[in-house]
Amino acid sequence: MKIINKIIVGTHNNEKFKEICDLLPKNTIKLSPQTLNLPSPRETGNTFEENSKIKAKYFSKKTNIITISDDSGLIIDILSGAPGIYSSRWAGSTNDFNIAIAKVYSELKKIKFKWNKGKKVTARFVSCLTLYWPDGKLISSTGIVEGKISEAKKGSNGFGYDPIFIPSGYKKTFGELEKKEKYKIDHRSKAFLKISKLFIG
Ligand code: IMP
Repeated sequence: MKIINKIIVGTHNNEKFKEICDLLPKNTIKLSPQTLNLPSPRETGNTFEENSKIKAKYFSKKTNIITISDDSGLIIDILSGAPGIYSSRWAGSTNDFNIAIAKVYSELKKIKFKWNKGKKVTARFVSCLTLYWPDGKLISSTGIVEGKISEAKKGSNGFGYDPIFIPSGYKKTFGELEKKEKYKIDHRSKAFLKISKLFIG
């Protein structure tokens, strides 16, 4: 298979764009939908994989260029898996993650969750990456990082729900960990590892 040397990183989320670019080899040319004046497709799927494929196919078909798209989110067990595929929508139209994080705590309060007696709110981040070629070929790969919700918001690194997610085996939230540390264990890096051979000789 031909090595990929130019790709659309199919997301309008700037932070996610940076994280995917950090995973890709330095010399791969990375294009963003914003600079190509392409809007986002509607995410009508019911799973991360479906939405990831919808995005990758959309940008690739519009441009005739190979695309990588990610659909990801936070799954909180005690909230029946919410926010899940609605993770970005919990931040509202202004994409304000203070709102999304406040909603996590208010939903926990609604079900009367108490932070005492060493109880933990188990959760995981899931990322499904899809590579889509203009001829219709595609590959999807999923990565998961297990962890728990922090009792309080901590740290200002990363994006989205990072300040409230503590990965298993750590005491710090993703918001407190350095980027390099997050990339060693996070969901997107794990998903990428399985397809990384397509980018190197
Ligand atoms: P979408 O895949 O663009 O629909 O949105 C995924 C949403 O999941 C993001 O907007 C974040 O809220 C959340 N999310 C996904 N990955 C991460 C992460 O690595 N850190 C924090 N939040 C994330």
